[in-house]
Amino acid sequence: MSVASVRSGIVAACARVGREPDSVRLVGVSKGHEPDEIERVLLAEGVHDLAENRVQAWRDKVDVLPNDVTWHFIGSLQRNKVKYLAARGVAWVHSLNSVRLAEELERQGARHDHVFRVLIEVNVAGEDAKQGVRPEDVGVLLDAARPLEHVQVRGLMAMAPFSDEPEDARPTFQTLASLADAWGLEERSMGMSGDYEVAIEEGATMVRVGSALFTPEATG
Ligand SMILES: *Cc1c(COP(=O)(O)O)cnc(C)c1O
Repeated sequence: MSVASVRSGIVAACARVGREPDSVRLVGVSKGHEPDEIERVLLAEGVHDLAENRVQAWRDKVDVLPNDVTWHFIGSLQRNKVKYLAARGVAWVHSLNSVRLAEELERQGARHDHVFRVLIEVNVAGEDAKQGVRPEDVGVLLDAARPLEHVQVRGLMAMAPFSDEPEDARPTFQTLASLADAWGLEERSMGMSGDYEVAIEEGATMVRVGSALFTPEATG
């Protein structure tokens, strides 16, 4: 796999459901990879949306990577770390899961004159091990965020239950899409290396792909 093969997977999935490939944003998950590898594998291939899931690991690489990267934060976010994201103008936060986190994003966004684009993370399948709000709590969080000037809720994010079978993820993605429809939210961040094509068929506007971009192409 590589950027080229993931891009063709995106094109193929779009074709199956009559979508335009440029309606899907490929977010390259760079966690666990060093800056030189990120430059070679992702930036050189034109992937400029990058995602990290830990603040400290992100801080270690943000300064050495070019500043035209659009950063996405996709991990669980402690309120005392939000200041670092605001100071560096991290564009997207995919993991809003509480009113208090929204309030801290607002506070630090205001301090640094930065508007965060935010997705509410939804624990669609109600798994104990997963972050995110219950589907029935999305409205409460939206109400709390609506008056905040430095927090724009643009959509929803979900992770499917772990499985080797991509089809197993489809019900989670369908639920997230209908929830986003019901709330009039445009962005749906769903789909990872194993299931991004299914996610696109179900309306993903952002796919968060890591390992599939970095795994060397099989030869022979
Ligand atoms: C690591 C991670 C991904 C990417 O996973 P891959 O299976 O490597 O594509 C996507 N989303 C989140 C939240 C992650 O932590």
